[in-house]
Amino acid sequence: DNPIQRKPAWIRVKAPTHPVYVETKALIREKGLVTVCEEAACPNIGECWSKRHATMMIMGDVCTRACSFCNVATGIPKPLDATEPQRVAEAVAAMGLRHVVITSVDRDDLADGGAAHFAATIRAIRAAAPGTTIEVLTPDFLRKGDGAIETVVAARPDVFNHNLETVPRLYPTIRPGARYFVSLRLLARVKELDPSIFTKSGLMVGLGEERIELIQVMDDLRAAEVDFLTLGQYLQPTVKHAAVARFVTPEEFADYAALARGKGFLMVAASPLTRSSYHADSDFEALRAA
Ligand code: SF4
Ligand code: SF4
Repeated sequence: DNPIQRKPAWIRVKAPTHPVYVETKALIREKGLVTVCEEAACPNIGECWSKRHATMMIMGDVCTRACSFCNVATGIPKPLDATEPQRVAEAVAAMGLRHVVITSVDRDDLADGGAAHFAATIRAIRAAAPGTTIEVLTPDFLRKGDGAIETVVAARPDVFNHNLETVPRLYPTIRPGARYFVSLRLLARVKELDPSIFTKSGLMVGLGEERIELIQVMDDLRAAEVDFLTLGQYLQPTVKHAAVARFVTPEEFADYAALARGKGFLMVAASPLTRSSYHADSDFEALRAA
């Protein structure tokens, strides 16, 4: 087991008490939905749910992979629920979300990796909540052929996000089921298929990566024409998960952000509590207004 280190002063999380948090939680329960906010034990849940911003997790809460940073259970998932796209769309409409993030567990058990289910969810949200912008945060569709990516792109999400999570050297221990260049290729492919879709990726830092490795990943992402970048501190969910190598300081995050902006990303979010979907709503609105 890896003992959990004490968090530094700059990582502070308030216990959620806001009435809108309670309302959002009730609505999510009523619709029988799973959120990554809860499954990933995200430290921002109080803030995000109080602002009616949530990240929905589709295709169940059991994953076919076992990434060493992730709090989602690994096992054999249940069959897909064909009513889920509609239930998600109704919840998005009921919550009055302006921007929604849809993500999923990895479904290596499905022939298309769940691409058609993602596409159905995007279409259902478009129909139920036409004013809501839609961001998908997808699995890598490893060994599913190019057809899977095409299916999701054809449903035209506003933002296509896929996280590289860490630098290539750390993949064997942190993201053992994934391949760095497969993930990078996915992002490049989305842009080739539909340049009007914004592409986005994110990494966790504090896992033992070097600054020079992070700079190389930024260059790789820009070579794949990725538009948005998120960088946040890795926090260890339980003693069974990968240990935090170190807590990256707010000053270092500022340095990474400046470097990334210099490389031409349209939007960069880099801070200790940045998560892939943190402030995705307001950031995207700001970009559209610019
Ligand atoms: Fe949910 Fe993302 Fe906010 Fe975390 S940052 S609470 S995962 S919406
Ligand atoms: Fe968690 Fe995604 Fe890895 Fe599954 S593929 S274990 S949901 S990070």
